[in-house]
Amino acid sequence: MPKQKIQWPKKKKKIKKTNELNDDSSSHNLERIFVIQKHKASSLHYDFRLQSDDVLISWAVPKGLSTTANEKRLAIRTEDHLLDYAQFEGVIPKGEYGSGTVLVWDIGSYEWIHQDEKKYSSMKEALEGGSLKIRLYGKKLKGGYALVRINEENNIEQWIIFKLADEYADAGRNPVNTEPDSVLSGRSLEDITKEESNGH
Ligand code: MN
Repeated sequence: MPKQKIQWPKKKKKIKKTNELNDDSSSHNLERIFVIQKHKASSLHYDFRLQSDDVLISWAVPKGLSTTANEKRLAIRTEDHLLDYAQFEGVIPKGEYGSGTVLVWDIGSYEWIHQDEKKYSSMKEALEGGSLKIRLYGKKLKGGYALVRINEENNIEQWIIFKLADEYADAGRNPVNTEPDSVLSGRSLEDITKEESNGH
Protein backbone atom coordinates (compact mmCIF):
# COMPACT_ATOMS: atom_id res chain seq x y z
CA MET A 1 0.00 0.00 0.00
CA PRO A 2 1.35 3.45 -0.94
CA LYS A 3 3.01 5.35 1.84
CA GLN A 4 2.18 9.01 2.19
CA LYS A 5 5.22 11.23 2.43
CA ILE A 6 5.00 13.76 5.18
CA GLN A 7 6.25 17.33 4.83
CA TRP A 8 7.93 18.20 8.06
CA PRO A 9 7.73 21.83 9.10
CA LYS A 10 10.84 23.69 7.94
CA LYS A 11 11.00 25.91 10.97
CA LYS A 12 12.47 24.05 13.89
CA LYS A 13 11.32 25.01 17.33
CA LYS A 14 13.90 26.84 19.35
CA ILE A 15 15.75 24.45 21.58
CA LYS A 16 15.66 25.63 25.15
CA LYS A 17 18.89 26.73 26.69
CA THR A 18 20.67 24.08 28.68
CA ASN A 19 20.31 25.98 31.92
CA GLU A 20 16.52 25.88 31.57
CA LEU A 21 16.60 22.11 31.73
CA ASN A 22 16.60 20.43 35.05
CA ASP A 23 17.44 16.90 34.14
CA ASP A 24 16.97 14.20 31.58
CA SER A 25 17.90 16.68 28.88
CA SER A 26 18.41 13.92 26.38
CA SER A 27 14.70 13.31 26.05
CA HIS A 28 13.32 16.83 26.48
CA ASN A 29 12.71 19.33 23.75
CA LEU A 30 13.56 17.05 20.90
CA GLU A 31 11.27 17.05 17.93
CA ARG A 32 8.74 14.35 18.68
CA ILE A 33 5.71 13.29 16.68
CA PHE A 34 2.10 13.37 17.67
CA VAL A 35 -0.56 11.96 15.40
CA ILE A 36 -4.32 11.63 15.50
CA GLN A 37 -5.68 8.87 13.29
CA LYS A 38 -9.38 8.88 12.54
CA HIS A 39 -10.42 5.25 12.57
CA LYS A 40 -13.71 3.82 11.48
CA ALA A 41 -13.67 0.38 13.05
CA SER A 42 -16.71 -1.12 14.78
CA SER A 43 -17.26 2.45 15.93
CA LEU A 44 -15.70 5.74 14.82
CA HIS A 45 -12.97 7.06 17.09
CA TYR A 46 -9.78 9.09 17.03
CA ASP A 47 -6.49 7.42 18.00
CA PHE A 48 -4.35 10.01 19.74
CA ARG A 49 -0.67 9.02 19.77
CA LEU A 50 2.45 10.56 21.26
CA GLN A 51 5.92 9.43 20.30
CA SER A 52 8.14 8.20 23.10
CA ASP A 53 11.39 6.90 21.66
CA ASP A 54 10.42 4.39 18.98
CA VAL A 55 6.83 3.81 20.04
CA LEU A 56 3.59 5.75 19.93
CA ILE A 57 1.81 5.93 23.28
CA SER A 58 -1.86 5.69 22.37
CA TRP A 59 -5.37 6.54 23.48
CA ALA A 60 -8.69 6.04 21.72
CA VAL A 61 -10.79 9.20 21.93
CA PRO A 62 -14.37 8.42 20.83
CA LYS A 63 -15.40 12.05 20.20
CA GLY A 64 -12.03 13.43 19.12
CA LEU A 65 -10.27 16.39 20.69
CA SER A 66 -11.96 19.71 21.34
CA THR A 67 -10.46 23.17 20.86
CA THR A 68 -12.69 24.58 23.62
CA ALA A 69 -10.73 25.21 26.82
CA ASN A 70 -11.46 22.64 29.54
CA GLU A 71 -13.95 20.65 27.46
CA LYS A 72 -13.16 17.13 28.56
CA ARG A 73 -13.11 14.19 26.21
CA LEU A 74 -12.81 10.59 27.33
CA ALA A 75 -9.60 8.86 26.21
CA ILE A 76 -9.08 5.14 26.68
CA ARG A 77 -5.43 4.10 26.80
CA THR A 78 -4.69 1.52 24.14
CA GLU A 79 -1.60 -0.47 23.26
CA ASP A 80 1.54 1.29 22.09
CA HIS A 81 2.11 1.28 18.35
CA LEU A 82 5.40 1.31 16.46
CA LEU A 83 6.55 4.72 15.31
CA ASP A 84 6.30 3.57 11.68
CA TYR A 85 2.54 3.49 12.07
CA ALA A 86 2.30 7.28 12.48
CA GLN A 87 1.69 7.95 8.80
CA PHE A 88 -0.51 4.96 8.10
CA GLU A 89 -3.63 5.56 6.07
CA GLY A 90 -5.60 2.78 4.53
CA VAL A 91 -7.90 -0.11 5.16
CA ILE A 92 -7.19 -2.72 7.82
CA PRO A 93 -8.65 -5.95 6.42
CA LYS A 94 -11.61 -7.73 7.95
CA GLY A 95 -10.64 -10.22 10.60
CA GLU A 96 -7.57 -8.22 11.65
CA TYR A 97 -7.41 -6.21 14.85
CA GLY A 98 -8.97 -2.79 14.29
CA SER A 99 -10.34 -3.72 10.89
CA GLY A 100 -11.73 -0.67 9.15
CA THR A 101 -10.47 2.54 7.55
CA VAL A 102 -7.80 4.86 8.94
CA LEU A 103 -6.81 8.39 7.94
CA VAL A 104 -4.28 10.79 9.41
CA TRP A 105 -6.54 13.47 10.85
CA ASP A 106 -3.70 15.57 12.26
CA ILE A 107 0.07 15.20 12.61
CA GLY A 108 2.93 17.35 13.81
CA SER A 109 5.37 17.66 16.66
CA TYR A 110 4.72 18.05 20.35
CA GLU A 111 6.58 18.81 23.53
CA TRP A 112 6.01 17.88 27.10
CA ILE A 113 5.17 20.92 29.19
CA HIS A 114 7.73 20.52 31.88
CA GLN A 115 5.91 22.23 34.72
CA ASP A 116 5.22 19.35 37.07
CA GLU A 117 8.92 18.99 37.57
CA LYS A 118 8.67 18.80 41.32
CA LYS A 119 6.55 15.72 40.90
CA TYR A 120 7.84 14.26 37.65
CA SER A 121 11.32 14.40 36.22
CA SER A 122 10.43 12.88 32.87
CA MET A 123 7.46 12.47 30.61
CA LYS A 124 7.48 8.74 31.27
CA GLU A 125 7.10 9.38 34.98
CA ALA A 126 4.29 11.82 34.32
CA LEU A 127 2.56 9.23 32.18
CA GLU A 128 2.87 6.62 34.90
CA GLY A 129 1.67 9.18 37.42
CA GLY A 130 -1.41 9.84 35.30
CA SER A 131 -0.94 13.55 34.64
CA LEU A 132 0.56 14.91 31.47
CA LYS A 133 0.57 18.33 29.85
CA ILE A 134 1.75 18.74 26.30
CA ARG A 135 1.92 21.38 23.61
CA LEU A 136 0.86 20.37 20.11
CA TYR A 137 2.20 21.80 16.88
CA GLY A 138 -0.27 20.26 14.46
CA LYS A 139 -2.13 21.53 11.43
CA LYS A 140 -5.56 21.39 13.02
CA LEU A 141 -4.69 21.36 16.70
CA LYS A 142 -2.20 23.66 18.39
CA GLY A 143 -1.28 24.67 21.89
CA GLY A 144 -1.61 23.08 25.27
CA TYR A 145 -3.58 19.97 26.17
CA ALA A 146 -3.80 18.08 29.43
CA LEU A 147 -4.23 14.35 29.89
CA VAL A 148 -5.39 13.10 33.28
CA ARG A 149 -6.01 9.49 34.28
CA ILE A 150 -9.35 9.21 36.06
CA ASN A 151 -9.75 5.49 36.49
CA GLU A 152 -7.92 2.21 36.10
CA GLU A 153 -9.86 -1.00 36.28
CA ASN A 154 -9.23 -4.47 34.87
CA ASN A 155 -6.17 -3.14 33.08
CA ILE A 156 -8.21 -0.49 31.30
CA GLU A 157 -7.04 3.06 31.86
CA GLN A 158 -9.58 5.80 31.45
CA TRP A 159 -8.19 9.26 30.92
CA ILE A 160 -9.64 12.61 30.01
CA ILE A 161 -8.04 15.00 27.56
CA PHE A 162 -8.85 18.69 27.36
CA LYS A 163 -7.57 21.91 25.85
CA LEU A 164 -5.70 24.22 28.16
CA ALA A 165 -6.73 27.87 28.20
CA ASP A 166 -4.18 29.54 25.93
CA GLU A 167 -4.15 31.62 22.77
CA TYR A 168 -5.10 28.56 20.70
CA ALA A 169 -8.21 27.69 22.72
CA ASP A 170 -11.20 28.51 20.53
CA ALA A 171 -14.77 27.57 21.39
CA GLY A 172 -15.86 28.72 17.94
CA ARG A 173 -13.96 25.97 16.18
CA ASN A 174 -15.08 22.39 15.89
CA PRO A 175 -12.44 20.78 13.68
CA VAL A 176 -13.72 17.25 14.23
CA ASN A 177 -16.82 18.30 12.26
CA THR A 178 -15.54 21.06 10.00
CA GLU A 179 -12.17 19.52 9.04
CA PRO A 180 -12.96 15.81 8.78
CA ASP A 181 -10.42 14.74 6.15
CA SER A 182 -6.79 13.64 6.04
CA VAL A 183 -4.09 16.28 6.53
CA LEU A 184 -1.71 14.15 4.45
CA SER A 185 -3.80 13.35 1.40
CA GLY A 186 -6.98 15.41 1.69
CA ARG A 187 -8.98 12.19 1.44
CA SER A 188 -12.07 11.29 3.42
CA LEU A 189 -12.66 7.90 5.03
CA GLU A 190 -15.05 7.15 2.16
CA ASP A 191 -12.40 8.06 -0.46
CA ILE A 192 -9.86 5.74 1.15
CA THR A 193 -12.32 2.89 1.52
CA LYS A 194 -13.41 3.25 -2.12
CA GLU A 195 -9.88 3.55 -3.51
CA GLU A 196 -8.63 0.51 -1.70
CA SER A 197 -11.59 -1.65 -2.62
CA ASN A 198 -11.03 -0.72 -6.28
CA GLY A 199 -7.58 -2.18 -6.04
CA HIS A 200 -5.64 1.11 -6.21
MN1 MN B 1 -8.22 2.67 16.59
